[in-house]
Amino acid sequence: MHACALALPRIVLVMTAHLSDVTVNVPSKRLHCIACLRPQTTCLCRWVTPTPHRVEVLILQHPMEVAQVKGSARLLHMSLPGSLLLTGEAFGATLDAALRGPRRNLLLYPQVPCDLAAGTQSSVVDTQWLLQPDQLRLVVLDGTWRKSRKMLSLNSQLQHMQRLSLATVPASRYLIRKAHDSHQLSTLEATCAALVRLEGDGVAVQPLLEAFDGFVGQQLARRPSSSAASDGASIVRRPTRREL
Ligand SMILES: [Zn+2]
Repeated sequence: MHACALALPRIVLVMTAHLSDVTVNVPSKRLHCIACLRPQTTCLCRWVTPTPHRVEVLILQHPMEVAQVKGSARLLHMSLPGSLLLTGEAFGATLDAALRGPRRNLLLYPQVPCDLAAGTQSSVVDTQWLLQPDQLRLVVLDGTWRKSRKMLSLNSQLQHMQRLSLATVPASRYLIRKAHDSHQLSTLEATCAALVRLEGDGVAVQPLLEAFDGFVGQQLARRPSSSAASDGASIVRRPTRREL
């Protein structure tokens, strides 16, 4: 368990793209920002960068990521007006509703050999889909590799979804968590890369990525230098270059 998890508030509901609808139970003594739900000392609201985009984004966040002060999913969600953030492990009918058409759903996830063996690998994305970003919904899993695998196994809707893999990725800016590979990306970075892939130069993600740099710097500044880049906690699962 992460060291800070016990002191953080229990989040009752995080299921909306509208901040005014967020309901939070805050039993701890620490003051929390009602917008980003984080302790006021690590509030990320200053880094929120509204970024217009055409592809809808559905972020499925594992519960263990909610209390991660270094997580990028909430900054991503608060910056993308066409995004929805659901927290859970097995989503059931809630996911069915979130995936409802007419948009086509595309899972941002690598093609993994073990999926082939299990017979659950979905087809590679139909290139015709890529011509119509307004008709797409990108589904992103926010969790460690192990947790994302579990989410995949518990939600059959995801197993047969067409997948988008990032063939080339930029070097990760995500220095907070221990990375097993230099090309592992945060949820925010991977989603930005996917949006560029799907929308081309029409989506301006650079300001958000720069804001993310600021967010990372803020977190690093709060930590002892000796542990700044050596957090043994889980990383946000991103495929390695070899997996892409
Ligand atoms: Zn805040």
